[in-house]
Amino acid sequence: MMKHRLNRLDRAARQQPQRAGALPALLVWVLTLATACGSAPTRPSAQPPKPAVAQAMPAVPALRPTPAAAPVAALPAEPPEPAPPAVAPPTPDLALATESAGVAARFPDPPVRYRTPAFEPGRSGYTSNAELHALMRALVRDGQGAANPTTVRLLQLGSSQTGMPLEALHFSRDPGPLAGSGLTASPSRPVVLLVGQQHGDEPAGSEALIVIAQALAQEPAAGQAPGGLAAVLDRIDVVILPRANPDGSAVDRRATASGIDMNRDHLLLYTPEAQAQAQLVREFNPAVVVDAHEYAALGRYVEKFGAVQRFDALVQYAMVANLPEFITKASEEWFRRPMLQALHAEGLSSEWYYTTPTDVANKKVAMGGVQPDTGRNVNGLRNAISFLVETRGIGLGHAHLQRRVHTHVTAIGSVLNSAAARADDLRKLRRFVDADVAAKACQGETVIEAMATPTEYSLLMLDPLTGADKPVAVAWDSALELLPVKRRARPCGYWLGAGQADAVRRLRGLGVQVQRFDEAGALRAEAYTETAREVGARADVRGSLTDGGGLLRVRVSLLPALLDIDAGGYYVGLDQPLANLVIAALEPDTQNSYLANRIVSSVNGVARVLQRPEARMSPLP
Ligand SMILES: [Zn+2]
Repeated sequence: MMKHRLNRLDRAARQQPQRAGALPALLVWVLTLATACGSAPTRPSAQPPKPAVAQAMPAVPALRPTPAAAPVAALPAEPPEPAPPAVAPPTPDLALATESAGVAARFPDPPVRYRTPAFEPGRSGYTSNAELHALMRALVRDGQGAANPTTVRLLQLGSSQTGMPLEALHFSRDPGPLAGSGLTASPSRPVVLLVGQQHGDEPAGSEALIVIAQALAQEPAAGQAPGGLAAVLDRIDVVILPRANPDGSAVDRRATASGIDMNRDHLLLYTPEAQAQAQLVREFNPAVVVDAHEYAALGRYVEKFGAVQRFDALVQYAMVANLPEFITKASEEWFRRPMLQALHAEGLSSEWYYTTPTDVANKKVAMGGVQPDTGRNVNGLRNAISFLVETRGIGLGHAHLQRRVHTHVTAIGSVLNSAAARADDLRKLRRFVDADVAAKACQGETVIEAMATPTEYSLLMLDPLTGADKPVAVAWDSALELLPVKRRARPCGYWLGAGQADAVRRLRGLGVQVQRFDEAGALRAEAYTETAREVGARADVRGSLTDGGGLLRVRVSLLPALLDIDAGGYYVGLDQPLANLVIAALEPDTQNSYLANRIVSSVNGVARVLQRPEARMSPLP
């Protein structure tokens, strides 16, 4: 296993608050980043994603909004009152799969009652794909000149692997650019993107996003000033993709139909489901993204720790190498703190997101991964404020579903309110960060790989029988402070050979700007030489990922070179806002790289460019 060397100067530098003088006034935070603890350098649990099953990435079509249909005034008929909460029966032993009455009593139903189809009496399943499709269509409306000024458009993003429609809703009260353009975002307002059910067996996020969508479309109450959640639309646009993985949802399964976990696919874009999300992000350029999941309440935690999970919500924002510091600060101060307050005001508990490997012998607990593969981290590298919110749900069936949905509605509602309150700040922050990232091309160093900080933590859990609080001391990988494992000088950009069209297609799918050389020339560059290779399986904080194997791990050395290039090759400059995503994809010796995942065919097909090319280039359209 490779040796992880800590660079103490690097770490010290990362802990220094940024000097205020260099920043726009609004960005001067009185700021204490919540960082964790001392470090006891041991080793990280390995990370990331999934390989395999290369599906050709189709050319990415433009979004096709449906014309805002004639006003559909009425909300979908509300189903009747839900059945009483289905509390699991008590279990005398420490069953892995069932919640005891003592534990269940810790999670009473909230005072509100939600009425999505999942709550119809007698239902054991959740809102079906067909029901969701109908509910979304029923919300489509044209707000132009209407008493309710909200326009709701259905965005068709293609089809899942089994042909189910992938659909999102766009909510806007921006009177300007939507009219007649058939287009996407209103440029004047920040966009918040809400994503549900990337994992098919985590239904609460999807049910909550139905609730949020209906609330956003709501008419203001007659005779009253517009209030409620829909008022956020006076400051922001909202895009909702309530069910990112309809195939998994249809069979209550985590992965997509091919077995690929789409939430490890946001850099590679193998699946049409991840491509659809990339398309949404590319076209709407959201300032904030929330990804709604659920976590396993029982199962391996009982086996490992003799305890069950305690928290209503586990929350984490993007934590990945090269994430702009001000994205982290805004995530913490503008969003996470108000979110925790909102949850606690509703009697809902929260903790950082964490997970534990599937291997029962490995008792390490880790915060969410630090690799550039999940939606949370990839959207962070797009300079969005990017949150993961997980409710206590997997393995519970319908138990506590009202509470789980309420937890998501509360957390996401807080994000929407924070985004609306900070709309001007968000736009300024994004402009600053985009420019700052682009300005770093050709300068300084960049982190190629980083790891979480191994430490210890007292994790509050529950006694599986009585439901009493049970603190458990665990080995804990903290993602709050990343330790650089490998660093390199930050190049001006990357050259890709003419044969690397697949990599170019995927980069463009992410929204990266790529240019093609119109003529031959020479580049001052660093060429990679492969010094070792092995084929392995992917690893993740959850353990090994089983989708395919065949990950190519190479070691490389760098050689300065004057590279003779032909016309037809590509230049991917780092002088663009998505530069950090480019580095994640193109430095070849990481497990998420396009080389490791056989998208780039050889280290000879890519090089680090050290000086802006002089040969004539044309941007790809
Ligand atoms: Zn999940």
